[in-house]
Amino acid sequence: MGTPVNIIVGSNVWIEDASLAWIDGKVSKINGKEAEIETPSGKKVTADLSAVYPKDMEAPAGGVDDMTKLSYLHEPGVLQNLSSRYELNEIYTYTGNILIAINPFQRLPHIYDAHMMEQYKGAPFGELSPHVFAVADVAYRAMINEGKSNSILVSGESGAGKTETTKMLMRYLAYLGGRVATEGRTVEQQVLESNPVLEAFGNAKTVRNNNSSRFGKFVEIQFDKHGRISGAAIRTYLLERSRVCQISDPERNYHCFYLLCAAPQEEVEKYKLGNPKSFHYLNQSNCYELVGVSDARDYLATRRAMDIVGISEKEQDAIFRVVAAILHLGNIEFAKGEEVDSSVPKNDSAKFHLKMTAELLMCDPQVLEDALCKRVMITPEEVIKRSLDPLNATVSRDGLAKTIYSRLFDWLVDKINFSIGQDPNSKSLIGVLDIYGFESFKTNSFEQFCINFTNEKLQQHFNQHVFKMEQEEYTKEEIDWSYIEFVDNQDVLDLIEKKPGGIIALLDEACMFPKSTHETFCQKLYQTFKVHKRFIKPKLSRTNFTLAHYAGEVLYAADQFLDKNKDYVVPEHQDLLCTSKCTFVAGLFPQIAEESSNKSTKFSSIGSRFKLQLQQLMETLNSTEPHYIRCVKPNNLLKPGYFENVNVMQQLRCGGVLEAIRISCAGYPTRRTFYEFLNRFNLLAPEVLEGNYDEKVACKRILEKKGLAGFQIGKTKVFLRAGQMAELDARRAEV
Ligand code: ATP
Ligand code: MG
Repeated sequence: MGTPVNIIVGSNVWIEDASLAWIDGKVSKINGKEAEIETPSGKKVTADLSAVYPKDMEAPAGGVDDMTKLSYLHEPGVLQNLSSRYELNEIYTYTGNILIAINPFQRLPHIYDAHMMEQYKGAPFGELSPHVFAVADVAYRAMINEGKSNSILVSGESGAGKTETTKMLMRYLAYLGGRVATEGRTVEQQVLESNPVLEAFGNAKTVRNNNSSRFGKFVEIQFDKHGRISGAAIRTYLLERSRVCQISDPERNYHCFYLLCAAPQEEVEKYKLGNPKSFHYLNQSNCYELVGVSDARDYLATRRAMDIVGISEKEQDAIFRVVAAILHLGNIEFAKGEEVDSSVPKNDSAKFHLKMTAELLMCDPQVLEDALCKRVMITPEEVIKRSLDPLNATVSRDGLAKTIYSRLFDWLVDKINFSIGQDPNSKSLIGVLDIYGFESFKTNSFEQFCINFTNEKLQQHFNQHVFKMEQEEYTKEEIDWSYIEFVDNQDVLDLIEKKPGGIIALLDEACMFPKSTHETFCQKLYQTFKVHKRFIKPKLSRTNFTLAHYAGEVLYAADQFLDKNKDYVVPEHQDLLCTSKCTFVAGLFPQIAEESSNKSTKFSSIGSRFKLQLQQLMETLNSTEPHYIRCVKPNNLLKPGYFENVNVMQQLRCGGVLEAIRISCAGYPTRRTFYEFLNRFNLLAPEVLEGNYDEKVACKRILEKKGLAGFQIGKTKVFLRAGQMAELDARRAEV
């Protein structure tokens, strides 16, 4: 960020603070490169002059609605602005075209009602207070006026408010592009009702969010030539599969399991369900209910939403039958069988659940048992059935549960897309992206690797866009911008996705080679990227690696990378389910053509498939005019009224907001119209305003007289380098 200039004794400044991120104070002494600062509490702190930032004493108390209006654009100024606005429940703030949305964790009155929508409809951007509706409105107008597709990219960490924001955007777009009173279901209703359906099956309570989306989503809303919604397509990314059979306290499994357990009595009886506490897949955590949520009511709401999106009654029954089957499947425990290393259902309870699972999936119980407890080995000489020990049978069982669930989720998405319908004649579209933000936990696995890869991609897109926008502004004002630089993250992207040689490619190689282990995979990484500046081998570790992402370093534990990357359905499971008597279940497991039964041919990996999906997403995004919304989670308590500085700062950094500001600082962050500039600084050289003066010339003369260099004078505005505004202000104080 801009280097501080003209910090003198008496200057009001910001200095870094470990617990509050930034605190303000007054410079009381300067010794060479060090400043002594007195804080309002009377404490004296010394800090290096280069780490001291000037504080704008003229910043309005309630903050400004656009960061670019801040006279001094730097971290502490940005943070102070957001926090003073948040205090007034002003949760939205612009940074140029980027909307920053801070989760209020409470329903703010009226901000999303019909009256508000009316207000924002057609209002010029920036005229009304910052709002999601304003962003949706610009996107819509731009699409109508220029016939070009637009996209709105919503990002932020878990619980920051992406999904809520996305729903508001979709509601507003449905309002703009909806039809007036029609009979039956409208496309826009279907689009909106797809949300509760996907949330029931793809969201869960986590420690970070009671309604956390465990998948990424890109909704493409298509419009006809009259600007009416004519179709939509939903694409989803990487559903978290492990949650189906493994949860930790105090999280929950996917909502749908609890909804079904709270369904009307006759359904619960039909599926032999009952208390969620009796199911292994749910009782690994002590959390069953959510505050303020009624699972019984949500069950009915989900059913209604399914009606609207066009899922028939029969299909709905089949869907919930499969959900129930997964719960029973999880209760099949195994004990050692008579043969060595074999297993059998542990007791009567296990046998009961096995029978129930088979009944619900409409397959043969004995074949199910075999599919769980045995593997067929094909050797050149013969076909042998090998038994699995109880541990491996359990792994097999969980694998089956995950496969069924993820196929069910994909089916829902396909069905919704089919039923809403695509408009082949659509002129343009608005895409809305709700995708997981950058993640860095104590232990990070393959999921975080994919998520952070996504964020690197989006970050690059974002940087390029912000950079381009800056350039456009400079071009418009006809000023020279050629020497602005920004750090590109192409090197991290290459490290991850380059083919051959990138981490994903090396992982695929390891997965195809039967003798590989996570250790050999890691050794290969260490060797290959020995000198890569984004790749770090932690000392002493043999199975971990660290990547230096744009948002910080992340340590990955590779021990499950190979397993998680394999997109493989055990043939026994495939055979079991594709012969189910239930057409719905059999339909989830279509017979694959001959060629892939030949094991060596097709290898499909989650990593490569995801990489391809991302490539397609980026292509779509690149053909649209993007708009960005950065959601920020102000605290980890999920409560209103707490604004944690350090926490927010970290998110602004990860979300690229600070990078955008940095890019802007690398150029000419401060722009003032000639009039504004003269108003503020004429007293530095009152003589330039004597007689008949030209505004442009007057501005230039003031700047030159004060010995400033590097600024630019555009057609209507003065463009100042970072820190120059502060310098002029300091001069003004001397007058
Ligand atoms: P995840 O990545 O886990 O899916 P997310 O960013 O999608 O998280 P949301 O589910 O949208 O987060 O928001 C979390 C919670 O915050 C919501 O359930 C809601 O209670 C609250 N919330 C978010 N945005 C708003 C808002 N604009 N007004 C009121 N409450 C909100
Ligand atoms: Mg979400």
